[in-house]
Amino acid sequence: MTLDKSGKLWRGDNFDDLAEYIRYFRAGGYPVATVVESRCSGCDGCTFRVSIDEEEATQRACLTCGAVAFIGDSAEHWAGTDHESCSCPCGGEEFAVAVGYALFDDGEVRWVSVGLRCLKDDTLGVYADTKIDYSPSRHLLSQA
Ligand SMILES: [Zn+2]
Ligand SMILES: [Zn+2]
Repeated sequence: MTLDKSGKLWRGDNFDDLAEYIRYFRAGGYPVATVVESRCSGCDGCTFRVSIDEEEATQRACLTCGAVAFIGDSAEHWAGTDHESCSCPCGGEEFAVAVGYALFDDGEVRWVSVGLRCLKDDTLGVYADTKIDYSPSRHLLSQA
């Protein structure tokens, strides 16, 4: 299967498809300069459950080893209590994750968007996007 844009929901079967969707989505309206695939720092796994809170802070938990990590600067905003698992329209809650970054001209991060590809039916979506209003912010590029 290749990237399917025919339906209301885009579907894809790999990181490239998800990256294309994130670029198309343009969170915040800014061109997405780079998309980084999320990988577990513990086991190099790339499938996750993703939790999101009201402020769109996101936390991912590795399906292989259970390691938990925050995406972007979510650790600083995480409410801790009020969050829920991201779920696909199909009900699936297990995803491949990619993070898109829009940048300022000087290379600092302007906007972060979190894209998920459902492992059950391959539906693509952007589940969170956050404006970054401070610098330096380049370090966020390594926190996918
Ligand atoms: Zn892991
Ligand atoms: Zn799904």
